[in-house]
Amino acid sequence: MTASQPLRIAIAIAGAGIGGLAAGLCLARAGLRSTIFERAEALEEVGAGLQLSPNALSVLDRLGLLAALRKVGVAADRVELLAHRSGRRIAEVPVHSADGTPYLSIHRAELQAVLLAAVRAEPAITLTLGSELRQMATADAKVELSFGGGGGPERFDLLIAADGVRSTVARLSGLAPAAPTGATAWRTTIDGDAASAFGATGQVAGIRAWLGPARHAVAYPVRAGSAVNLVLIAPGGAPASGRQDDTQGLVSGFSRWDPHLAALVNAAPAPTAWPLFAAPAGRPFVVGHDRVVLLGDAAHAMAPYAAQGAAMAIEDAAVLAAALADTDDPRRAARRYEAERRPRIDKVRGRVAFHRLVYHLPAPFSLARNAVLALRPRDALRADLSWLYDWRAPALDPRRPD
Ligand SMILES: Cc1cc2nc3c(=O)[nH]c(=O)nc-3n(C[C@H](O)[C@H](O)[C@H](O)COP(=O)(O)OP(=O)(O)OC[C@H]3O[C@@H](n4cnc5c(N)ncnc54)[C@H](O)[C@@H]3O)c2cc1C
Repeated sequence: MTASQPLRIAIAIAGAGIGGLAAGLCLARAGLRSTIFERAEALEEVGAGLQLSPNALSVLDRLGLLAALRKVGVAADRVELLAHRSGRRIAEVPVHSADGTPYLSIHRAELQAVLLAAVRAEPAITLTLGSELRQMATADAKVELSFGGGGGPERFDLLIAADGVRSTVARLSGLAPAAPTGATAWRTTIDGDAASAFGATGQVAGIRAWLGPARHAVAYPVRAGSAVNLVLIAPGGAPASGRQDDTQGLVSGFSRWDPHLAALVNAAPAPTAWPLFAAPAGRPFVVGHDRVVLLGDAAHAMAPYAAQGAAMAIEDAAVLAAALADTDDPRRAARRYEAERRPRIDKVRGRVAFHRLVYHLPAPFSLARNAVLALRPRDALRADLSWLYDWRAPALDPRRPD
């Protein structure tokens, strides 16, 4: 085998979200072909803002996408934690990295557009829209896939399930589904004019999080700074209708908060509810006789309290591609992927649980939290997150001759 001869394994990816597109691109960079099957007929603008930390951006940098992302994202060097009522700053958590990899806030649709343009320009990736994976079977040392509309069966050496929190592949594999966390994220985007009504002193120039009992709010710029993304996290499930015309209950829960936040909430278009789900921690990432690999939310959906769901999907893509580039045996690569990813995902889950507890403390515990955070030097707060943000992507070069 030479570096110009990619491994002759047929790889299918289910889902063209952030994880599936990143997986196709990482595989291509590692010299491997793939076919992405996406159930949607068109990849439309779905989602809202995302924070992308340096660990994830190091992968996208390796793919040559950082310059395009910098154009649509907004670089942050800190996250400000604010008291919910007064808006007083509790702490500033630095998020910059020593090697210059940025921390960006970005709209999910713009991230997806950058990934999609790269996928369309990549001859090693075939993207098939309108193909919903419905059935799978492991037979003859292959995985056999069938699609809606009578498509298939098609045979592959490996299936990468990047089909999101309600993963069909997880269900077909008999895995327990992701479960509601008991909280809902209400997301909305405020355009420049409405955001400027927020006032000069309250301008959201960076990433801000207001911490209150049982709920918190996060605001940060997106669309190259021309809009503000607002997320309100509150206890409870989504409204029965799925969408919400009556957000009065939600808004009143934040009405006595920092006037700057209240102004932003009032200027915002009606938010959309995203009930938060988490995949059971003990679930495997690799099933189907090691020929089916779960990635991103399909594997380990988690509440967004550490802003790491998309980041973990992107990291997964790089680690899996690097493992596949390193062996002729896709099943061995799948096992290596699970071994490498599980400790890190567990640690991120731990951080999510820690943030949920600490962010939502009621008084008087919140006062103790504020005092502890205020005393902790900024460098120490950054050092606490070094294990997360300073992770760097593995090399993704095509395999060298043995
Ligand atoms: C309120 C909120 C805030 C968040 N903030 C952040 C943040 O700041 N930073 C961060 O990193 N993450 C954040 N996340 C998490 C992040 O959005 C997700 O973790 C990430 O989008 C998951 O990507 P994915 O590719 O695994 O799944 P998805 O993006 O859900 O993509 C799944 C794809 O699979 C397709 N599909 C589904 N079923 C099938 C099928 N049977 N056949 C074919 N295709 C199929 C879907 O149509 C979709 O295109 C946040 C999430 C929420 C809810």
